[in-house]
Amino acid sequence: MNIYDVVIIGGGPAGLSAGLYASRGTLNTLIIEREATGGKIKDTNEVANYPGSEKDIDGMRLGERMLEQAKEFGAKVVFDEITEVDFSDKVKKIVGKNETYEAKSVIIATGANPKLLGVDRELEFSGKGVSYCVTCDGPFFQDLITFVVGGGDAAVEEAMQLAKFSKKVYLVHRRDELRAAKSIQEKVFKNEKVEILWDSVVKELEGDKMLSGVVIENLKTGKITEYKATEEEMLMGVFPYVGFIPATELFEGKINMEKGYILTDENMKTNVEGVFAAGDNRVKLLRQVVTATSDGAIAAIEAEKYIEDNF
Ligand code: NAP
Repeated sequence: MNIYDVVIIGGGPAGLSAGLYASRGTLNTLIIEREATGGKIKDTNEVANYPGSEKDIDGMRLGERMLEQAKEFGAKVVFDEITEVDFSDKVKKIVGKNETYEAKSVIIATGANPKLLGVDRELEFSGKGVSYCVTCDGPFFQDLITFVVGGGDAAVEEAMQLAKFSKKVYLVHRRDELRAAKSIQEKVFKNEKVEILWDSVVKELEGDKMLSGVVIENLKTGKITEYKATEEEMLMGVFPYVGFIPATELFEGKINMEKGYILTDENMKTNVEGVFAAGDNRVKLLRQVVTATSDGAIAAIEAEKYIEDNF
């Protein structure tokens, strides 16, 4: 069996950057992606804060370019879903649905996925009124009523973004104080289109095929309020922004983690020799494309050093 120098699990910005650096360093590099490369940025209309990127570049294109670059230096990309990993030997085993892969080093770049609200019918209405991406779907809610759920930076920023399209945005937060940074809070308090529903949760989602009604419960008073789209509108939007869940289940009990996020040192090393993590799935302060690509580059260089010293 071919033993790769490095197998990278995940083809988002962290994985593609690791692929670029590893293959440029002449490592025999394999990137394994489950669905489509690009990670979460492929759902983003405009990536304005990635330094040096073309003006108005969308996430899909930026991801495609990262993929091209990794391939230009020789990285191989396959689509497979990893179901098991075995890091107990010096040569690591990565078991996919299609194939089993062996590698001298592994970079885990599996990212994180949006957390669901956990309300009945949430998945049924996904793409039919419920969306986890304002940038992707906000324009569909032009002049309609929308709800953003959450009180963190993401919820508050996305509520303001959505207010550019929606007739009215309700920011539904379960407490009486936002978690978001004070500077962001000040902006939302001034936004006339955004109304904050304090101490509140989404209790029910209603509609036939499309979401046309939202029931909100005030947790302090117990008051239930039903919001209904008019016959003309027919549709309402609910955008949950209640945090993310790291995609790390596969590695539970195999590497050290904290609340599901992988623990690394500043060189992306996990507690297992030859296993590195990069991107949104690790414990870190800022989860952005720029920090993911940085992690990927560091992990690849460290993997190269590890292989030189150990094989
Ligand atoms: P977050 O900071 O973890 O906030 C999640 C919010 O959702 C909290 O307000 C939480 O309420 C609420 N929540 C959690 N579970 C819920 C549930 N089941 N039902 C209702 N509400 C629920 O997540 P985030 O806003 O996605 O941010 C993630 C990280 O990215 C943070 O470190 C953030 O600073 C960063 N970020 C930064 C920026 C920026 O700097 N511009 C933008 C976006 C994100 P409680 O407050 O009651 O816990």
